[in-house]
Amino acid sequence: MRLGEFVKAKKQSTASRRFGRWMQLSLLIWTGFFQLDAQSIDSLSMTYLGTAGWIVEDQETTILIDPYISRLKLGRGPSISPNDVRRIYSRTDYFESDTALINSIISKADYILVHHSHFDHLSDVPYIAKKTGAKVIGSETTCRILAAYGIPEEKLFRIKGGEDYQFEHFSVRVVPSLHSALNQKLYFDARVLPDTLRAPLKISEFIEGGSFMYFLRLSSHKILTMGSMNFIEREIAGLKPDILCAGVNFSRNEIFKYTERLMKLTHYPKWVVPVHWDNFRIPYGYSQDRALELKVGPFIEEVKYASPTSKVVVPTHLEEIIFRN
Ligand SMILES: [Zn+2]
Repeated sequence: MRLGEFVKAKKQSTASRRFGRWMQLSLLIWTGFFQLDAQSIDSLSMTYLGTAGWIVEDQETTILIDPYISRLKLGRGPSISPNDVRRIYSRTDYFESDTALINSIISKADYILVHHSHFDHLSDVPYIAKKTGAKVIGSETTCRILAAYGIPEEKLFRIKGGEDYQFEHFSVRVVPSLHSALNQKLYFDARVLPDTLRAPLKISEFIEGGSFMYFLRLSSHKILTMGSMNFIEREIAGLKPDILCAGVNFSRNEIFKYTERLMKLTHYPKWVVPVHWDNFRIPYGYSQDRALELKVGPFIEEVKYASPTSKVVVPTHLEEIIFRN
């Protein structure tokens, strides 16, 4: 474990993390340091799930963002051991959550935020929402998919973009956004799924359904999360997050001065965390060195140039990062 402004560690259970905090507090008192270190008690934990996915936790609340854990082997790609995947899927197959893997990683959730409804963001949410009873914030299409899987209406917060909701221990502004400019900017999908939808869905039926970013105020932190490699300039101007989870796939190169504008608009965040750079068609535990070299490496150089005061924190799958202001 490395101490500093942020700490990276293997994910602990909530119980052991609480025990750790209790020990920290007890030690502070026991050793006579009665000035309690409010900042470390007020720290924020973020565990990277791959793609744009996170477990975000403070003392009070557990929020999941785009929790895609099943990482189905879809089509061809890097060779992996057949023992490490259940089967090879095609887009016309029905989606199946890897419930054993999800159960080993997710024990609880109060809220789930969904950036958009593609399978690598939404497809595990029906199972996780059922398992945890979490409330879900997402587009009309996201909510229709969840309703088709039997999630009750009172758990579904339909959003259009522009909402700024206060919950018990955190607030979230829904930031209208744009999907990555895939397929050399030819990508476009304005479909909304009908409310007559039936589950289960095929992988290809998880359509975009509109894209958002989220601006979370939680603990003493402000986090701006991205699920894609695109943004609307006027919607993020002036938000000033201290943690920016920035989309860093190749499609960012389709956007005019992507990194430079992103840093400037968000007032040069203290921490910049690259997301959606990993190959999500291979299971956890496989090397992501190629993605790191081809996508994250150049992005770090871009940030150095555009925002020299920012620190780039490269997340590792299932590793917890603790941020302290
Ligand atoms: Zn997508």
